[in-house]
Amino acid sequence: MFDKLLQIIAPHYCYSCGITGTSLCLSCEYDITSEPYSACFVCRRPSRRGVCPHHSSGISQAWVVSEREGALERLIDAYKFERLRSGSVTLVRLLDTVLPNLPADVTVTAVPTVRSHIRVRGYDHAELLAKRFATKRNLSYRQLLTRRANNVQRGASRAVRKKQAAAAFAPCLSDIPASVLLIDDVVTTGFTLLYAAKTLRQAGVETVYVAAIAKQPLDQKQKI
Ligand SMILES: [Zn+2]
Ligand SMILES: [Zn+2]
Repeated sequence: MFDKLLQIIAPHYCYSCGITGTSLCLSCEYDITSEPYSACFVCRRPSRRGVCPHHSSGISQAWVVSEREGALERLIDAYKFERLRSGSVTLVRLLDTVLPNLPADVTVTAVPTVRSHIRVRGYDHAELLAKRFATKRNLSYRQLLTRRANNVQRGASRAVRKKQAAAAFAPCLSDIPASVLLIDDVVTTGFTLLYAAKTLRQAGVETVYVAAIAKQPLDQKQKI
C-alpha cells in the first residue's frame, strides 16, 4: 500500500536504464537473465547443476540469477537497505525466469534472516521473496528452519563464517516435506545455503533445491 502510494508520488524507474514505470524494464531484465549463471554457487567452478560435486552435500540443483553487480546490485541494495519492499516483485520475476518448472510437491522455504536485520529493515527480505515465489508458482510455502544463534556475518573472516554457518540452523520439526526449494537473496561464501540445506537433509528432506538472486563478486567489499 505504502509502495503504491509512493509510486504515484515518485514513480519507480528502471535501476538499469532509468526508464520510468518499473524498477527493472523488460529489456534490462533480459540483459540479466539471458545468460544463465552456470557455476557452483560456492566455489564458482563451472557447473550446469549450479553446484559442483565437492559442494553438493545432497543439493540436487542450485540456481543463481546473476553476479551482484550493475542494475541487479542497485535493485538488491534498494530492496535490502532502502526499504524498497516492492523490489521483491521484480526480484521474484527474475527468479521465475531463471528457474525451470519444479515438481508440484516442492515446498518453498527461506533461509531465516538474523532478527536484528528484520528489525532494521522492517521486513524479512528472504522470507518475502520465498513467499512471493511460492505464490507465483502455485507451490506451498513453509518456514522449515530457525536460527539457533543470531550471529551477524558482516566483516567476519571466511573461516569464522563457515563455523557460524555450520551451527546456525535447526529444523522446525513438524511433518517434513520430501522436496524443498530453499531461497536466499545473496550468496557470499555459500556456506549459509550449504549448511541450511544440510540441516534440511538431516531432518529427512530427500530433495533439496537452492536458489538465490545474486552471488557476491569476489573483489567487492562485503555487504550483508
Ligand atoms: Zn531498463
Ligand atoms: Zn563448488
